[in-house]
Amino acid sequence: MKFQVPRGTFDVMPEKSAAWQALEAKARALSTGYGYAEIRTPIFEATELFLRGVGETTDIVSKEMYTFADRKGRSLTLRPEGTAGVMRALIEHGVAQAGRVHRLWYLGPMFRYDRPQAGRYRQFHQWGAECVGSDQPAADVEIILLLVDLLAGLGLGDLVVQLNSVGHPGCRPAYQEKLRDYLRPHLDTMCADCRARFEKNPLRVLDCKVPPDVAIAAGIPSILDSLCDACRTHFDLVQKGLAEQGVRFALDPKLVRGLDYYTRTAFEVHDPARGAQSALGGGGRYDGLIAELGGPGVPGVGFSAGLERILLALEERGLAPGAEGPKLYLARAGGEGVERAAQALLRELRARYSAVADLEPGRSLGAQFKQADRIGAVAAVILGEDELAQGQATVKDLRAGTQEKVARAELAAHLDRLLESLPRPENAR
Ligand SMILES: [Zn+2]
Ligand SMILES: [Zn+2]
Repeated sequence: MKFQVPRGTFDVMPEKSAAWQALEAKARALSTGYGYAEIRTPIFEATELFLRGVGETTDIVSKEMYTFADRKGRSLTLRPEGTAGVMRALIEHGVAQAGRVHRLWYLGPMFRYDRPQAGRYRQFHQWGAECVGSDQPAADVEIILLLVDLLAGLGLGDLVVQLNSVGHPGCRPAYQEKLRDYLRPHLDTMCADCRARFEKNPLRVLDCKVPPDVAIAAGIPSILDSLCDACRTHFDLVQKGLAEQGVRFALDPKLVRGLDYYTRTAFEVHDPARGAQSALGGGGRYDGLIAELGGPGVPGVGFSAGLERILLALEERGLAPGAEGPKLYLARAGGEGVERAAQALLRELRARYSAVADLEPGRSLGAQFKQADRIGAVAAVILGEDELAQGQATVKDLRAGTQEKVARAELAAHLDRLLESLPRPENAR
């Protein structure tokens, strides 16, 4: 029997984890810089939460959820997205209240039973942010800027924001009628999914991937022509705010995103270097969601970004950081006293740097240096009988090939200078 990762999942092996860590660290730092606090919610929730919070007419809910019954027969679902769980938590903890603004971010795995393809997996990872409690266009602008600034900070400055407004429950029904009028003559030839969408939510025909339906959907009337005055003003102010911050954006009246709960602003950030799978992230405003989930009528806006796709875009541009091994190698040659002192020194080095030593005692210095070379260590700290007797250690710069004896009291300062240009591990003091 040969075990393999389940289809649509992947292992992050050590040579790739540095790139993940760097991306996660940047997302964390930027979220903090924007005044957003982290929220962590469970990976599974009651299935009903996603039926209501994502929408029953969406592909996510109708085709892609990992739903299972637990031992008591409760229907649970692995979260297919992050927003519903975050809103559930805000409601449950009683903090979703009118007039209070919450700025939150999250990062973690999501699960969708989707056809695996480049940059798309069944267990995938999202960084997301939610600005809850304000209906101001400035909140939409802030959320879009947070995503754009992360991508630009990673070196992805050549992206385009696609922007739309999907109106609000007051002006959308008139648009949906317009849409039905347009679709009605084509309905007989359209797929069963589209015929169901026609009744429940005709905007969803834009999700259809059947070629003749895609052609029909391409001709739908623009939603931007049906916005009410309030939605129009909101949308104008979002565009003005983005333009003032120098964000490149393009209007896309067909952008409705995969979730039912969006109101007004919907956006996606695209990588023009890629084709169909070019969205690195996106989001929008969801003013009705919290009420839909049983909370007060509190508005919100947010985004999520796919870490796999961002890493792919970074790799394609040669911007993904490579793996980093331990910086220091402790080599030793001597009797039991040296061995004991070496183990103590190794622990000291590890408190400050990243260091390893041979697990097997008594091997030749040559064999130990070979190991140091293999792991890509920057320097070797050598402890022999002489060094032990004199309270010293020899430091060998493995890049330059030079070495010098250093008093133990000076060792840290010496190594600091040697490693100065290199990043320290996160646990360094
Ligand atoms: Zn409206
Ligand atoms: Zn269709």
